[in-house]
Amino acid sequence: MLQFSYNFFAHLLDSALNHGYRITSFEKYDTLQPQTIIMRHDVDYTLNGVRELAEIEFDRGCTATYLFRVHADEYNLFSCLAASLVQQLRQMGHEIGLHFEAMNVGRALGLDPPSLLLREKKVIESIFGFPVRTCSEHRELSGQIHSTPLFDELYDPYAAGFDFYSMDRRFCKDMKYLSDSNANWREGDPLKHYGKHPRMQVLIHPDWWFERDLLLKGPYVHPRGTHI
Ligand SMILES: [Zn+2]
Repeated sequence: MLQFSYNFFAHLLDSALNHGYRITSFEKYDTLQPQTIIMRHDVDYTLNGVRELAEIEFDRGCTATYLFRVHADEYNLFSCLAASLVQQLRQMGHEIGLHFEAMNVGRALGLDPPSLLLREKKVIESIFGFPVRTCSEHRELSGQIHSTPLFDELYDPYAAGFDFYSMDRRFCKDMKYLSDSNANWREGDPLKHYGKHPRMQVLIHPDWWFERDLLLKGPYVHPRGTHI
């Protein structure tokens, strides 16, 4: 089974369920549940693959948090097609969150990052009409080039009114954190971690995952190169 294929994603979920894990979004995370995987999806450069992962989760009674950018060059969250996708995700029980860029965009435009973060959150809430409770930071090359700190090194994301910040220590230090950033499972095969940790946060970028071949998935680019 090919790594990053939708079949492999389904296998990841099925194996987790067989190990007794509950797979959930941030907003539905139950701290009393002993075995839990919080499933997080940062939507970086394409919407392709989002619906496919969401349906695989839905078919198994799982939920996930899909975090979208509002400053992406590569997709417009407020286009009719994307807005329809957001509606479908919510109908499947998934959570919609903000993949924020307040540090990098704030730097480029000379805007105060905490104020910008608040407005990024509010713009999704005003267009879609539901509260945005969860956020994660989009990290890309310009941040490295400009030596831009991470938001949480200088500010508190919770000040913008979020309930869940993905890199809060309770979600990445107090539980196992696995990520497929740059199409690389830095901690090895995620399957080998099952059963060793009662709680995990698993970050999967829909960008990397495909049906038969990544090149057949549709046109998209990663113009800023490496990101995490
Ligand atoms: Zn990102």
